[in-house]
Amino acid sequence: ELEKRKYVKGRKLGEGTYANVYLGHSRSDPTSLVAIKKIKVQAQYNDGLAPDAVRELKHLQELRGHPNIIQLYSVFSSKDQNLNLVLEYLPLGDLEMLIKDVDRVRYGAGDIKAWMGMLTRAVWFCHENYVLHRDIKPNNLLIAADGEVKLADFGLARGFSDPGWRMTATVITRWYRPPELLFGARHYSGAVDIWSVGMVFAELIIRTAYLPGNTEVEQIALICKQIGTPTEDNWPGVTQLSQYTVPSEVTPVWGKEAYMGRFGAVGSEGVDLLVKTLALDPKKRITAREMLEHRWWRTEPKPTRKEDLPRKS
Ligand code: ADP
Repeated sequence: ELEKRKYVKGRKLGEGTYANVYLGHSRSDPTSLVAIKKIKVQAQYNDGLAPDAVRELKHLQELRGHPNIIQLYSVFSSKDQNLNLVLEYLPLGDLEMLIKDVDRVRYGAGDIKAWMGMLTRAVWFCHENYVLHRDIKPNNLLIAADGEVKLADFGLARGFSDPGWRMTATVITRWYRPPELLFGARHYSGAVDIWSVGMVFAELIIRTAYLPGNTEVEQIALICKQIGTPTEDNWPGVTQLSQYTVPSEVTPVWGKEAYMGRFGAVGSEGVDLLVKTLALDPKKRITAREMLEHRWWRTEPKPTRKEDLPRKS
C-alpha cells in the first residue's frame, strides 16, 4: 500500500498478452518516469498470484543491477488484486521496430556489434545467476533513452538451479525456438537462449526473421533445410527425443562458407560467431561466456557507441 502511493499512474503505453503497461511517475518527483506493468489476473489463480507474474518478479529481483536488464523498482498490488510491477521506462521502442523500418532506419556492422554485445552481456548475466530467459526475441529487447538495449519480459523465465526438474517444452516464440525444444526435450539448459540470440543476430543482419515457420512442423523443416538435419551423427541422442521427426531428405549441416553470402555483412568473424550459436546439438552450442571471448568483438569495425546508435524517427 505504501509502495503504491509512491507512484502516479498515467496513460496506457501498450498492451501485452498478460499485462497492460502504463506510463507513471514518482509522486515526489514528476520528472522521474516509470513504466507500470499491471499483470492481468487469471481467473483460475484467484486465490494467489498468477504464476507468470510470480516468475517475472522473482527473476527480476534476482537480476537487479545489470545495465542490459530492465530494472524493477517496486512491486505493489492494486485493489482488484492485480500485481503491478514498477519498471524502468524505456521510451525508444524495441529492436523489432528498428529491424522492420527498412525505409527509414539504416544501420551497419558496428551497430549490430553494439546491440549484440548488449544482448550477450544480458544473457551472460542471466545464466551466471542461474536464470533462463526463454523468450529472447527482438520485441523483448527494449531501448533506453541513452541507446542501451535492455532484455525485458521475464514472464517465461525460470531458474535452472534445480537440474532434476522437468521443464515444459512449449516455451519460446516459435521462430526463435531451438531444435531441442521443438523435439520435446524436457531437460534443457542455457543453450536454449543462445539459439534465440543466434536467431536475433541473423535477423539483425538480413532484417527479416531468418526461420519464420508457420507451424512447429514447418519450423523443424526450415531448420533442417537452412542449418542441417539433426541426426545421431551430428547430435548423439537426438533420435530418442519424444517429438523427434525430420523430413526424409537429409541435408548435411552447412559450413561457415554457406552463410557468407547472406550474412557476410558482419565479416567472416561475425559469421563464425553466428554459426557457433546455431549448433544443432545444444551441448556443442557456444555459451554466453564463450561468446564474450570471441574474436569478433575486437575485429573492425568497433561496436558503435550507444549514444551514436540509430534510433526510431
Ligand atoms: P508483450 O506481452 O507483448 O511481450 P509487454 O506486456 O511486456 O509486452 O508490454 C506491452 C507493451 O507495453 C510493449 O509492446 C511496449 O510498447 C510497452 N512497454 C512494455 N514495457 C515498457 C517499458 N518498460 N517502457 C516503455 N514501454 C513499455
